[in-house]
Amino acid sequence: MLVRDEEMTFMRNRQATNLVFELSQPGRRAAAYPACDVPARPLSELLPSNQLASQSPDLPELTEPDVIRHFTNLSTLNMSVDTHFYPLGSCTMKYNPKRHERLASLPGLVDLHPYQTEDAQQGMLAILFELQQMLGEIAGLPAVSLQPAAGAHGEMTALLTAAAYFHDRGERRTKVLFPQSAHGTNPASAAIAGFDCVQLKGQADGFVDLEELKAHLDDKTAVFMITNPNTLGLFERDIAKIAHLLHDVGGLVYIDGANMNAILGITRPGDFGGDMMHYNVHKTFTGPHGSGGPGAGPIAVRDFLADYLPGPIVTRTQLEGATRYQLTTPPKSIGRVRSHFGNVGILLRGYLYLRTLGAAGLKAVSEQAVLNANYLRVKLEDVLPVPHGERCMHEFVASAQKSKSEKGITALDIAKRLLDYGYYAPTVYFPLVVPEALMVEPTETESQQTLDDFADTIRTILNESPEFLHSAPHATPVSRPDEVKAGRQLVLRWKRHCARNGK
Ligand SMILES: *Cc1c(COP(=O)(O)O)cnc(C)c1O
Repeated sequence: MLVRDEEMTFMRNRQATNLVFELSQPGRRAAAYPACDVPARPLSELLPSNQLASQSPDLPELTEPDVIRHFTNLSTLNMSVDTHFYPLGSCTMKYNPKRHERLASLPGLVDLHPYQTEDAQQGMLAILFELQQMLGEIAGLPAVSLQPAAGAHGEMTALLTAAAYFHDRGERRTKVLFPQSAHGTNPASAAIAGFDCVQLKGQADGFVDLEELKAHLDDKTAVFMITNPNTLGLFERDIAKIAHLLHDVGGLVYIDGANMNAILGITRPGDFGGDMMHYNVHKTFTGPHGSGGPGAGPIAVRDFLADYLPGPIVTRTQLEGATRYQLTTPPKSIGRVRSHFGNVGILLRGYLYLRTLGAAGLKAVSEQAVLNANYLRVKLEDVLPVPHGERCMHEFVASAQKSKSEKGITALDIAKRLLDYGYYAPTVYFPLVVPEALMVEPTETESQQTLDDFADTIRTILNESPEFLHSAPHATPVSRPDEVKAGRQLVLRWKRHCARNGK
């Protein structure tokens, strides 16, 4: 059955990957016009010769069904959360409720322009104000800026906010520390914000090594950046101690909130010692994302950092008995980091998600996400052991080391073959501390049946012939490009088509 399905997918995909120009046949037409009812005259009589092209444009000649089938088939080559199970660890690829898409496109919201008067924007400002309040509450950090356009942008904004705070206090703190397992954006943001980056070695069990941390703490330490739950899907058990150590030397703790999906309504960064954090609204709060955007990366910080936040912030006042929302800039603001109010389209979806779920629903999201991840982890542990930790949070990092040494089947083979079976691949070879890593995040909306089918598919793959797996995927238009070469030497089919036609 699978082989037939695969062959059919392959044939369809092959068809869809022809260029529309390659499908062209001379004389085919998609439209029929009524006969011309004025005398026909050549263009050369109507326009000066220097305005005329020497050749007619190279347009494909196709029938209407040719065109419709081509683009419809092309559209099905995408894998997305709406079409496939998408266990891409660290990215939190959540289902995006269609109700929120509908509400976010109400005319009163999408037709609003940021240059309209504050009076005309009261509804939108009320939404953004409430979102600030909710994000502050979930973080346990009361001051919120909605401006940053994504998580990495939030990191940089928070670090600039911290730098302004230290500067104001007359302190010269130059170092930002982060553990070995940190997401690459952490050191990148620190470097762009002008800090020196110090990477700490981790413990063998995947947690922060407290002695190593202590050895780097001094009066030059500005911020310690940490993802919690961490990149291995483990809750950093010493986080409160870590925060004490930082605060003792006058430093701040930054929580990378990309993994908030595991702890919503259960614990709060502000309660376990964080001073600043970002959200990835496109991850945790279901903004549709993929292929790089769009995102929203609001930050939440402690009271004493509020004056330095980027402006504008939405504030609420009572004016002659009426509630009024205003845009205000904090007194010592670092300035703007984004035009207008941030990526409002994504912020709106986050707001709608939070309002739909309410406090109890939000907590249930995290409980279900953690349950799903652990269910799948246990179902797979005999074939794909998890080197770090007994119980995980919302994701786990399994290792294909065993199947590699026993059968020669690598994490890459498994990931590539999963595409043939209609699954998006987990994140592979990250974090680096796990050999042959497969980082799986099933999210809370997946059913037990989906998780069972996925686990069965992994087992099926591990019983297939290694040679067959080394050349997978077999059903996609492109199988295994040399990834470095593909990135550096783009072969654009359009160019090839032009070369073939002498253009
Ligand atoms: C996704 C992610 C980021 C970066 O967030 P973007 O919104 O993609 O800029 C940072 N840290 C971690 C742990 C992440 O997973």
